[in-house]
Amino acid sequence: MPNIGFIGLGNMGAPMAANLVKSGDSVVGFDLVAAARQESAQSGIEIAPNPKACAEKADVIVTMLPAGEHVRSVWSEILPSAKRGALFIDCSTIDVTSARAAHALAAQRGVAALDAPVSGGVAGAKAATLTFMVGGSAEAFARGKPILERMGKRVVHCGDAGNGQAAKICNNMILGASMIVVSEAFVLGEKLGLSHQALFDVASASSGQCWSLTSYCPVPGPVPASPANSGYKPGFAAALMLKDLKLAREAADAVHVKTAIGAHAAEIYERFAQAGHSGTDFSGIINFVREASKQR
Ligand code: NAD
Repeated sequence: MPNIGFIGLGNMGAPMAANLVKSGDSVVGFDLVAAARQESAQSGIEIAPNPKACAEKADVIVTMLPAGEHVRSVWSEILPSAKRGALFIDCSTIDVTSARAAHALAAQRGVAALDAPVSGGVAGAKAATLTFMVGGSAEAFARGKPILERMGKRVVHCGDAGNGQAAKICNNMILGASMIVVSEAFVLGEKLGLSHQALFDVASASSGQCWSLTSYCPVPGPVPASPANSGYKPGFAAALMLKDLKLAREAADAVHVKTAIGAHAAEIYERFAQAGHSGTDFSGIINFVREASKQR
């Protein structure tokens, strides 16, 4: 089994790296934050003194970092220390341009690379049930797939460099916009005297059916596991939804595609975050929709 380097041991990276250790991999990791390093050491991860030391020891490097600038900077820093024939896999959610730039940096050094953002959140990272959306060559994908399968349950090859990120932001644009419109439908139903359960029973079996309704219903009751039943505790925080909607808007601008609804969803989540709800689950947007209706 390859030695794996893991850089970025935060909310997602720590449990992902821990799952590699549970599968029998030897993992050497690094994070800027001492508490994150200590927590991961307790999961059996060898802690390196710096990112370069990870790269020197590892055959495969996984990064799980906040944004494109961090990935570009870490990859630039460690690529010169990478082993011959190394594979770099970035699992962070970042802009498509940075992802493609990171692939190009790796290619300059003769290092294989994949962009492999995830869906499934912290719960999926802990349970090793993440979905990976992967961009890169078929050869790199074939090498990376077994490693990703030890951290998730679905690994989908989406095409060449950057296409994993493209799939991720397109999916989350659907998710953000659909959550808003499902919320609007429930608030409209309330005003029209329709019970939540009646609307759910009809729409979940009709043409309005979608994941935001049937798996993550924004009102308490119809879907017991949805965050609406636990005070809108994330789940998937509104701040992360806003990040992904902004990435989608940026990508759409770059390729001159008009995403009117996706862009509007980003504006609505921006106002939600500015009103102090960044840390609320993104389905809490229903309370914002209801409040806005009261002000009329
Ligand atoms: P996080 O902030 O908890 O973790 C990021 C870690 O990277 C932090 O521990 C930070 O100290 C570390 N870091 C930053 N710069 C570094 C550097 N130069 N060297 C080493 N370590 C560095 O974030 P997270 O929730 O784990 O998310 C990571 C990525 O996964 C993000 O891109 C996010 O959008 C994406 N994501 C998160 C979720 C989620 O539910 N949290 C779901 C899907 C995707």
